[in-house]
Amino acid sequence: MNYKCEICEYVYDEEKNGVLFSNLPNSWTCPDCFVPKSFFKLIEPEEAEPVQAKTIEKDEEYDDDCVYVKVNEECYPIARNPDLCVNCGNCKNICKNQQAVCGYFNPKKIKENTICIDCGQCTLACPTGAINFKNDIENVKNALADPDKIVIFQTSPSIRVSVSEEFGFDAGSLCEGKIVAALRKLGADYVFDTTFGADLTIMEEASELIERIQSKKNLPQFTSCCPAWVKFAETFYPEILTKLSSAKSPILMQGAIIKTYFASKMNIPVDKIVSVAITPCTAKKAEIKRSEMNVSAKYNNNSSLRDMDYVLTVREFAKWLKDENINFDTLSEENYDDPLGRASGAGVIFGNSGGVMEAALRTANFLLTGKNLDKVEFQEVRGLGGIKEATVKIGDTSLKVAVVAGTANARELISKIQQGEKYDFVEVMACPGGCISGGGQPKSNTTYLEEAYKARQKGLYSLDPKSKTRFCHENEDIKKLYLQFLGKPLSPFSESLLHTSYFDKSEILGD
Ligand code: SF4
Ligand code: SF4
Ligand code: SF4
Repeated sequence: MNYKCEICEYVYDEEKNGVLFSNLPNSWTCPDCFVPKSFFKLIEPEEAEPVQAKTIEKDEEYDDDCVYVKVNEECYPIARNPDLCVNCGNCKNICKNQQAVCGYFNPKKIKENTICIDCGQCTLACPTGAINFKNDIENVKNALADPDKIVIFQTSPSIRVSVSEEFGFDAGSLCEGKIVAALRKLGADYVFDTTFGADLTIMEEASELIERIQSKKNLPQFTSCCPAWVKFAETFYPEILTKLSSAKSPILMQGAIIKTYFASKMNIPVDKIVSVAITPCTAKKAEIKRSEMNVSAKYNNNSSLRDMDYVLTVREFAKWLKDENINFDTLSEENYDDPLGRASGAGVIFGNSGGVMEAALRTANFLLTGKNLDKVEFQEVRGLGGIKEATVKIGDTSLKVAVVAGTANARELISKIQQGEKYDFVEVMACPGGCISGGGQPKSNTTYLEEAYKARQKGLYSLDPKSKTRFCHENEDIKKLYLQFLGKPLSPFSESLLHTSYFDKSEILGD
């Protein structure tokens, strides 16, 4: 049977969720609009949407008999509330089959540790909200209420096609200008676009790719902008860490630039800045806490600084707007602030699986030949496929590339490499369609999920040809940043601010 929320029309599907509606605890609320259970009405059978049978895989040798994923306090972004848990097994099913984390370690050997890559996919699958990410709204509200603080927001590429879904618009509806307006209503001092950080990431990562191809060292180069993928590699495949690009993710590049270049350009005392990212991603909440993400502290000689202070997901942002009674529907569109608010079409498509690859190839071609590609779209790496492969040409060089979405697929590709398959460049994103399906994105009804992901991808791709430029290296503000501050890509200064290191964390799995 299916039950529909009378407020937001979210459909609770008993078969999909594996729990009778009547068995949900009284404290359960609608995952989309948070109204109590009493707002749900039974949908008569003829109205019911088709459902897929749920399958929970049989536990393997090393799998424990616990039906849910085990996350403890060590796992910063994800927490499970046992009072809301109805033991449906959805979280473990996703974690094991789609993400290939649960079931890939021996529970007896890990002792009290949590093995989790922070991807948040389990939070999308949980019917009761028992497993969810930790909420940072109050911290951001406190910063906004402090007259001494300058609160700077940045918004990730993919959220411009998903925030509006929380307010009843179709998936993929574009709402970039409304997001900026909403943040200004909440009190933002500046609103920047992380797409600028994506352009910067490509400048560094494409330069690194060219260097590796020319020296034939550390190939294939793996992308590094997905923190859940990075943690997955650090935990399960430390032997490939030298192959990961050392470029930081766009949010953390932008965070470092805000508290160095921007603060000094605008003459803002850096300790007054509170830097907040609105993202599709739960793993970013953990990424900003990594000890090495504090180059602004070193640059400013102030050990209390972190490069980024808070990360809010799309679901947190939408809840906050609803709590403040901000009518998203009627907001007028506003523009991002300069100079970290302008980006290329290549930066925008970063939110799609395949987008980072495409953006990097466009710039790598320019770096290698001094010319732009005539054909900038790489259709072979687009779409929702788990592993997409292609042979592409930049200059006279043929490159074998692969685009991977979902960490179970990453295991499959790594296994191919271990068996001798050769690649030059591999993009890995932990979520199934890239960031458009991140763990902090709106929860969509499962029967509609694939359509929603496709619509979000289409929305992002539609912006690329309309952009002022489709090449990261043609972003005028990026050029200015290198000219006035960084020097050039991979310069020692760029390396110190924009690159990072990875650590073998496999010890956590036990011996
Ligand atoms: S956040 Fe990802 S890795 Fe962690 S428990 Fe959930 S699905 Fe598994
Ligand atoms: S945490 Fe959620 S998804 Fe996991 S078993 Fe409990 S109710 Fe099901
Ligand atoms: S694919 Fe995107 S949303 Fe998902 S974990 Fe990686 S960076 Fe976060």
